[in-house]
Amino acid sequence: MKNTDILVIGGSATGLVAAMTAKSNHPDKSVTIVRKEEKVMIPCGIPYIFGTTGSTDNNVIPDGGLVNLGVAILVDTVTKVNHKEKIAELASGETIKWDKLILGTGSQPRIPGWLKGADLEGVFTIAKNHLYLDELQRKLSNKKRIVVVGAGFIGIEVSDELNKSGKQVTLIEILPTVLGATFDPEFGQAAQDQLVERGVTVKTNLGIKAINGTDCVKSVTYSDGSTEEADAVILSLGYGPNAELAKSMGIELNEYGFIKADQYRRTSLPDVFAAGDCAEKVDFATGKLSTIMLASTACNEARIAALNLYKLNTVSVFKGTLGIYSTCIGDTAYAVAGLIEKEARREGFRVVADTFTGINRHPGKLAGAHKETVKLIVSECGGAILGGEVMGGVEVGQLINVIGLAIQNNMTIHQLIMTQIGSHPMLSASPAGFPLIKAAEKVAGSLRKCHS
Ligand SMILES: Cc1cc2nc3c(=O)[nH]c(=O)nc-3n(C[C@H](O)[C@H](O)[C@H](O)COP(=O)(O)OP(=O)(O)OC[C@H]3O[C@@H](n4cnc5c(N)ncnc54)[C@H](O)[C@@H]3O)c2cc1C
Repeated sequence: MKNTDILVIGGSATGLVAAMTAKSNHPDKSVTIVRKEEKVMIPCGIPYIFGTTGSTDNNVIPDGGLVNLGVAILVDTVTKVNHKEKIAELASGETIKWDKLILGTGSQPRIPGWLKGADLEGVFTIAKNHLYLDELQRKLSNKKRIVVVGAGFIGIEVSDELNKSGKQVTLIEILPTVLGATFDPEFGQAAQDQLVERGVTVKTNLGIKAINGTDCVKSVTYSDGSTEEADAVILSLGYGPNAELAKSMGIELNEYGFIKADQYRRTSLPDVFAAGDCAEKVDFATGKLSTIMLASTACNEARIAALNLYKLNTVSVFKGTLGIYSTCIGDTAYAVAGLIEKEARREGFRVVADTFTGINRHPGKLAGAHKETVKLIVSECGGAILGGEVMGGVEVGQLINVIGLAIQNNMTIHQLIMTQIGSHPMLSASPAGFPLIKAAEKVAGSLRKCHS
């Protein structure tokens, strides 16, 4: 039997950050990771193996950071955990005695049970496993017509990359636009127009009904009864938490199947923590249970768990999980933080939302110049910033984090207008026409009208 002070199950975003934080903050403690994969994929980089990076080998999380810190890595599967004895059993027959346990067992793609033909050869998901992905790439190499089902972030990124590599791609989505669950329609429509312009066939307001074929995929049938010939189908219909191991330990799960965990990521069993895709989240604005799954959220939770293993070292001001997403199609980035307008209204918030479009360089003739659009969603009562959406050049990936920070710190739109910003011609918009501040000014104007 092996012994470790801290056992981390899972080697992806959560496992990596949990183990590194635990070891850095408790150098006297031994830390062991058990993970299933020899090579761990950078999960967010997976879509790019289909075009830009070309292979899973170019998308691996290096082990150097863990090894240099002295974290032990075991490639194996934990099959059982005896919580009372604090012993984990592995598929290889090995056993590990632990003192503190962090569960970072993650998530896996969902395949709807009702979908006829989902088990046919040629139907795939985007699993986060390099062996599966290598096989998927090999099998796709002689296929031409690919139907991607589901136009969330992963669906659009995979479609765009496959299209880039010469495949004939149809992307289907049940909502009125791509990215329709996370963005307001004008942003979703812009992303959709761009995908179409780049050569992806996009069909919206359309679901999948069945996948047809005898042994392998021949065609798909849509919700309107139409059919389309296809050589392969990629299902991109979301991910479900891997909580079976936790369940078998007697840990409480929530109604969506996530491991219940408090603000410090403590589960219902003492000395057992859970973080990342497998662990419960509540929404920042509504306090309702959320099914959000992001690597950024996973890393944040992993850090919190690892810092609080022995004593509560971080006094939590945690109000809930804030979804901050971004993606890129060609040279245009799309990003969102917090509540979008339609969701805020659906949740019953009285909001004012306004949009400003400017340019991200000054003068706009400089290289890298790109239109930059910022939309802010603000509570009509008190002016608290509830959400923001941005599209523009690559800097959007960081601009959305500024908006995220404003939301998390309960800033009002008036405080945002007063915020001191830096700018440079080659790097950002003009300080006189900074789209974030201009959008804030527009919202403040609308608020004044509401209150006059
Ligand atoms: C294609 C794609 C693109 C994405 N893009 C983004 C993005 O741009 N930005 C973003 O923030 N998020 C993105 N995400 C989401 C992000 O990848 C996940 O939120 C993140 O992977 C969660 O990390 P995790 O460690 O909690 O879980 P996972 O990545 O699912 O890892 C789980 C780990 O647990 C291990 N494991 C499970 N059970 C056992 C067991 N019994 N024994 C041993 N090991 C076990 C697995 O081997 C694995 O190492 C993307 C996801 C995908 C699929």
